[in-house]
Parts: sequence; C-alpha cells; structure tokens
Amino acid sequence: MKKCDIAVIGGATSGSFFARKMAEKGFSVKVIEKCSREKVGSRYDIFHIGRKEFERFSIPRPVEGDKEWAFEFETNYTAAPSGKYPIKTFDPMVGLHMHDYTLLMNKWAEEKGAEIEYEATFEDFIYENEKIAGFTYSNKDGTHRLFAKCVVDCSGIAAVARRKLPHNCKIENFEVTPEDMFYVVLKYVKFKDPDFIYNTSSTGWPSYKSWLAPQADPNGGILGIGACNSYEQAETILHDVIKNVPLPEYTITRTEKGKTPYTRPPYSFVTDNFIATGDAGCLTKPNNGEGVTSSMVHMKIAADVLADALKSGDLSEKNLWKINKIYNKEQGADFASTRALLTKVVKATNDEFEFIFEKAHDVLQSFLDGAADGPEIKLPLPALIKAVGKIAGGIFAKKVSVATLKSALEGVSLSGKLKKHYLDFPDSPDGYYAWKKQADELWKKVGKMS
Ligand SMILES: Cc1cc2nc3c(=O)[nH]c(=O)nc-3n(C[C@H](O)[C@H](O)[C@H](O)COP(=O)(O)OP(=O)(O)OC[C@H]3O[C@@H](n4cnc5c(N)ncnc54)[C@H](O)[C@@H]3O)c2cc1C
Repeated sequence: MKKCDIAVIGGATSGSFFARKMAEKGFSVKVIEKCSREKVGSRYDIFHIGRKEFERFSIPRPVEGDKEWAFEFETNYTAAPSGKYPIKTFDPMVGLHMHDYTLLMNKWAEEKGAEIEYEATFEDFIYENEKIAGFTYSNKDGTHRLFAKCVVDCSGIAAVARRKLPHNCKIENFEVTPEDMFYVVLKYVKFKDPDFIYNTSSTGWPSYKSWLAPQADPNGGILGIGACNSYEQAETILHDVIKNVPLPEYTITRTEKGKTPYTRPPYSFVTDNFIATGDAGCLTKPNNGEGVTSSMVHMKIAADVLADALKSGDLSEKNLWKINKIYNKEQGADFASTRALLTKVVKATNDEFEFIFEKAHDVLQSFLDGAADGPEIKLPLPALIKAVGKIAGGIFAKKVSVATLKSALEGVSLSGKLKKHYLDFPDSPDGYYAWKKQADELWKKVGKMS
C-alpha cells in the first residue's frame, strides 16, 4: 500500500504541470503514466505554444539548438476558402517536439520531488466512507493500491477516472464522442522547390478548419486539418483545401493523426477529493482545439485552491468548488461565449465565407486581432454592427443566405447569454442544479460544431 497527498493519472503536459505546481508547494505527489518513458507524449510530433505563455506559466522555455525546439514564427494569416484576402495578425509562437518537451516537463516535475511511475495504468477508484480515497493501478508486477488525499485526472481525452464517477456526481462523466471531438490529420510536406522556405508564418483557412504551419525542416510544412466525426471526414475536407487553395508544390513525407476534445467542459471539475483537468476536463481552446496552455490556466487555479484545502484538511466538493468559480471568471466564460459564436458562424458555406472575407475584411481583422490577444473573440458593438451590415448586404446581392445571417445573429446572442451565465456560476454546490438547467437549455440552442 502506498500513500501520498496527490495522485495524478497521466504524465503528459497536464499531469507534469500539475505535479510540479503541487510539489513546489511542498506536497507529496505521485503520477502514474500508462506509457513508457520512451513513448510518453509521442502521439504526434510538433505542437505550438504562444511565446508569452512560457513566462505566464513559468514553464521551461526551449531555445534554438535545444532538442525540444523546432522553430518560431510571429505572423499568422487567416484567409478565405480560395486562399485569397489573407488577414495578417501578430501571434508569436514556438514550435516544439511533443515527446521531448513532455520528457522535459516530466523532469521539471521530478526536480521538485514529484514521483512518476511509467507503464502504470489506472484501474478504478478506491472509496472509503463513500468518498474517493485513492485508486488501484496495474503495472508489470500486478495490481497496486495507491491512497491519496486528492486524485487528479490528467488522462487526456479518454478521461479514464472522470468517466468512472457515479452518475449523480456534479462532475459529468460523459464520454467525448466523435461529434464532440476534432479528428486532426497532419500531413508533413516537403516543398519541391529547395529554395522555398516556410518557417516564418502560418496560414489558416477557417472555413475548412485547416492550416499550413511550419515544421522543423524550413523547406517543409505541416498541412493540417481538424474535423468532427471521423478521420475520413477530415481527409475529405482536406482534399477540398488542396483543390481550392493554391499551395506551393510538395510531396507528403509522413502523416500523423490525433484527437482533441471540441465540446464544452463538464460544468464542474471537482467532487470530494477529486479534480479533472487538461483534456480530461475538455479544456481546449474553442478557436482551434489546442489545449496545452489553456489547461494550465485551470491547473494554476486548481493548484492554489487545492493547496489551501490540503492545509485546512477539507477537500470536500464544497471547499474545492472555488476552482469552478474562479476558472469560469478567468477563462471559462470567455471560452463558452467563443464556442457558441463559432459553432453558429461556421455553418456558413464556402461561397459565403469567400464573400465575407472579401467584403468585411476590416471587420474580420479587428476580430482576429482581438482573438490573438486573449481567450475570447471580442465583439465590439461598432464592428459588430458593421459586420451585420456587410452580411445583410450579401443577402441583397444573393451571396449570403438569410439562414446564415440568422445563425450568426443567434451565435452573437447565445454567446452573450452564455458568458453572463458562466460569470454567474454558483458560489457553492447548492445552486448547481438550477444553474445547470439553464446552461443545458442554452447549449441545446447552440447545437454541435459537427
Ligand atoms: C494532432 C494534434 C495537434 C495538436 N496541436 C496542439 C498545439 O499545437 N498546441 C496545443 O496547445 N495543443 C495542441 N493539441 C491539443 C493538445 O495535444 C492537448 O490539448 C494536450 O496534449 C492535452 O494534454 P493532457 O496532458 O491533458 O492530455 P494527453 O496529452 O492526452 O495526456 C494524457 C496522458 O494520460 C495517459 N493515460 C491515459 N490513460 C491512462 C491510464 N488509464 N492510466 C495512466 N495513464 C493514462 C496517456 O498515456 C497520456 O500520456 C493538439 C492535438 C492534436 C491531436
């Protein structure tokens, strides 16, 4: 039998970050990770972190020459379905190798005393007096019991522990289904012209949820796409991108695939002696499905609240509830608002997107500048009125359908209502069910991205 203050399930970026934060505060932390040290964080290679995020979260910052570092760029373009009318934004990014960076974060957590056991798989909760008191896990030697004051689920989209919670728990135990995730396909390409260098910017085509990003080889790129439902759907849409957007000639050198949650998080992240976070808490960004640092916003809050709870010896749902409240104020309300808006806006057809990019270029520029700056797509009233005016003009020119304008306006309205509702999240578990009822009604009106 083993004992620790905090037992973390999953030792990738979220598990390492949370383990480090709690170990830094002087608590004993044990992480179990299903993969071997050689395999952890290797489901795909390149990922991006915004340059300013390293300082914000005090996480290790690889630089050129380090094995974790792949490239950096500052400029992002967002273009119409034809590739025309690119909108330039300033959004400095660092490209990193996921496996190497995960190992770096593992070491960073271990430096402060967190213990990581690899090839150890979560099995089930241990309950004492009907409260979570730890879990059983298996490794090559058999099944083990690990007792902890708090269990933290950082197991990614599978949410292996959250999904085992009882149905009457305030943390919903839903599975992320195909319609609620992005199937991401990444084609690593090498450009045929050896002098063509593509490592100073990235370009996205939101109508297809597709992009061309740099990769470690400056003469290459990553043609990526995210789509709901299946990898086949992603590949089909990628064919449209290749057909419609003029791209420099290339050959595909390898393909990677992975899944990322694209759904609202569970309304609560806590119950007695338990927290869900990272992809297990569906904390990915609504504008692109990225989740490494958006989860850190949540984990920083969770670590502070949990440290106070451990000191007071009260890890009840009621005492951990502040995690929900503070998170919604800092990021959750903005993400809910942006998710609602985007879900409604992407219903537009490619022809409609083309028209909007051509005619409302300046308005899109101000929205995208705002999106590069923070967690929410801000909708200043003058820009909003201008956007509606341009789209309404499209209706007269028969370039935009009434249904698309209606859907966009619904998106604006629901996004405002959800933001307010999340900011009004109850201060204690007592008000939860009344709040949930209204939230369910709003999300039902938003519908699904798929
Ligand atoms: C192709 C692709 C590209 C992406 N690009 C970016 C990007 O550029 N920037 C960005 O911020 N985000 C990106 N994302 C999203 C990002 O990968 C995730 O949001 C992030 O990795 C989530 O981290 P996590 O630690 O919560 O979960 P994961 O990285 O999924 O880690 C979960 C860990 O738990 C372990 N585990 C699972 N089950 C068990 C078990 N039963 N017992 C023990 N351990 C278990 C797993 O082995 C794994 O190591 C991308 C996603 C995909 C699919």
